[in-house]
Amino acid sequence: MNADEFRRLGHQLVDWVAEYRERIEDRPVMSPVRPGEIRSRFPASPPADGGHLAEALALLEQDVLRGITHWNHPAFFAYFPSNTAYASVLADILASGLGVQGMSWQTSPAATEIEEVVMDWLRQMVGLSSAWSGVIHDTASTATLCALLCAREKASGFSQQDAGLQAGAPPLVVYASEQGHSSIEKAALLAGFGRSNLRLIATDAEHALDLLQLERAIETDRTAGRRPAAIVAAIGTTGTTAIDPLAGIAALAEQHDAWLHVDAAMAGTAMVLPECRWMWAGVERADSVVFNPHKWMGVGFDFSAYYIRDPEHLVRVMSTNPSYLRTAQDGAVKNFRDWHIQLGRRFRAIKLWFLLLDIGVEGLRARIRRDLENARWLKEQVDGTAGWERVAPVPLQTVCFRHVPLALADDESALAAHNLEIARRINEGGKAYLTPSTLKGRQIIRASIGSETTERRHVEMLWTALEEAARN
Ligand code: PLP
Repeated sequence: MNADEFRRLGHQLVDWVAEYRERIEDRPVMSPVRPGEIRSRFPASPPADGGHLAEALALLEQDVLRGITHWNHPAFFAYFPSNTAYASVLADILASGLGVQGMSWQTSPAATEIEEVVMDWLRQMVGLSSAWSGVIHDTASTATLCALLCAREKASGFSQQDAGLQAGAPPLVVYASEQGHSSIEKAALLAGFGRSNLRLIATDAEHALDLLQLERAIETDRTAGRRPAAIVAAIGTTGTTAIDPLAGIAALAEQHDAWLHVDAAMAGTAMVLPECRWMWAGVERADSVVFNPHKWMGVGFDFSAYYIRDPEHLVRVMSTNPSYLRTAQDGAVKNFRDWHIQLGRRFRAIKLWFLLLDIGVEGLRARIRRDLENARWLKEQVDGTAGWERVAPVPLQTVCFRHVPLALADDESALAAHNLEIARRINEGGKAYLTPSTLKGRQIIRASIGSETTERRHVEMLWTALEEAARN
């Protein structure tokens, strides 16, 4: 392809994306395809000859779109919002166009320095003090793995430089809420702590970690000669956006010299609102924090913000520094390859930069406040309508509820089937998409509000659809 062809196809593709977004509302939110349907539309072997790229747009319509679940649809209420604002789409084109490999400062100084700038802007936006240093990770899962690796190395006196966890030190224990995200369990297992040294602590009536239970678990481990190495606090659990009691957890972490990692993957974006920051009061006492601008903020996947108080410790854990990667500037610059697991890194910082140039902090705040208002509205409908039961507080944009008809009220398995059927009808109906889930053994329905284009009318439509589905 030469530059002229690139220009022509590129303009067509941008037009295609704009039209797709403009008409996204006409499409079923959840893909209706059956397993294997998309694969069967593709030839079994690769094209032998080139020259067919101009057909790609037609093939997109014909063979791909039916297999897309439309995460940027205004009636997307499933999982969590995964907004990719237009500005972020453009930034991705630019990042690919530049084709930068930003593993070291020298491999593209602008990639490193703009990342430093935007991560410092983001720190200010969410109200973290200047004691924090930020780096962009691909996902919260890998950031949490890094946090637990740092915790392991702190608690074991840098055992990785010796015999690792085989060195015979006392067993190191990790604590998190039973409602914490599965990435915490995965990170604890991958970091070598072992399932028998992972404590998933019971939660209270609001589904937040029960501090007393945490204290007891730590005492039991201490008495048995085990060492508390890390506590992961969830600010906004995946299931219900429950808020763990961070200040109390921080006090326990300090008392036992354990690493405190805060997983605010979803809720972090809400911290751009000063009125929401009570949710992570105590965060300044943590060792590391992760949140995902690639969820609610509008920065397209992937962009996870990892903040750490002691970057030297992180670099000591992550750095291998072979001779072929050393440069003359190493003492004076950040080499972000040493701030996470992988070596290579894309120029992700442009996505946040472009987003902020486009909407600014105040534009973002207005959108987040709109979503919180919409969630409050839905909560009021659930609370005010006979037959519906809300099963969790609504501090953010997720409303968890179930339908409890009188006739089924005493029959948990019939209630589960009834609520699954409500979710199935809505999802297969195509007008909206939400997630059926379980909470402490009960079948519930989650509505996660916050797509960039979701207005009140879409939430009203969801409520009408829920009432209809519950009646039939
Ligand atoms: N933590 C929480 C609270 C989440 O809700 C999620 C995703 O839903 C994650 C972690 C994992 O995020 P990622 O996909 O960036 O690894």
